[in-house]
Amino acid sequence: MGAPGSGKGTQAQRLVSRYGIPHVSTGDILRREQEQGTELGLRARKIMESGGYVDDATMIAMIRNRLTQPDAAKGFILDGFPRTIPQAEALTKLLAEIGAPLDVVLLFEVNNEQLVKRLSGRRVCELCKKVFNVHTAPPSVPPACVDARDEHQVVQRADDAEDTVRARLAKYEEMTRRPVSGFYSYTGLIRPVDAEGDIDEVTRRMFATLVAGSRADPSDVKKRVAARRKPAKPKARARARARTIVRRKAKSRAKPAAKKSAPKKQRAPVRKSSRRPVRKARPARRKK
Ligand code: AMP
Repeated sequence: MGAPGSGKGTQAQRLVSRYGIPHVSTGDILRREQEQGTELGLRARKIMESGGYVDDATMIAMIRNRLTQPDAAKGFILDGFPRTIPQAEALTKLLAEIGAPLDVVLLFEVNNEQLVKRLSGRRVCELCKKVFNVHTAPPSVPPACVDARDEHQVVQRADDAEDTVRARLAKYEEMTRRPVSGFYSYTGLIRPVDAEGDIDEVTRRMFATLVAGSRADPSDVKKRVAARRKPAKPKARARARARTIVRRKAKSRAKPAAKKSAPKKQRAPVRKSSRRPVRKARPARRKK
């Protein structure tokens, strides 16, 4: 999870290289639909350009279709989904159905003004598709454009215009960060990552967060989850029960037998309110 421009897509790519599992980005799927000119792509274009959200039913159907593909069977990294509470609930149901519970939810955090600068400064070369930033990485040559051209042909993505960026950030805060991160903090899966500063430094923090939270390398998380879910073997359970019974018998044998003939000591009467024994008042001392 993270606001637009928080770098979650870039960091997701690094998780992909490390763990060799697919990166499932709903934003990328929608952009591909647009390029292919599908009915969904055309419908999504307007919503995306205005900074809105595509409806939950469409997004849930999309993610169900993607996560049931064979390459997702060994695990996946979700990026941009879930963005709403109905999506989070539908995801929980779907993952229970396919037996793939979430291991961790990373929350990338960046100050809003930084995000506006990052996104509104972003430019993409129409020819070679490289991404630049007018503030931090201006479009220079090198890196070379197609056919060693001298100049890149940069444009601003429609949803990177400053007004749209602010609308996207407000939407993220209201519909996603507050409610969805709240949803996952109940499960104890959420781990914030400081995503400001250098990209490699953020990657280092992300892996440190994963390792610190799981007490071992995160690739072990799946194994540990599976182990937690496995019920104890019936034979082992029976052996443990037998051991407990033997221990109990040994204890009772070790106890000294109570003397039958000894008369029971009378207990002092107990006060109902405080349950403390009532003391008899001492006789007053006689004055000499
Ligand atoms: P992203 O590349 O993740 O920033 O997504 C770009 C745009 O795609 C968003 O601003 C939304 O309009 C749309 N989108 C992506 N994922 C979702 C989602 N899970 N629910 C609703 N809309 C989405």
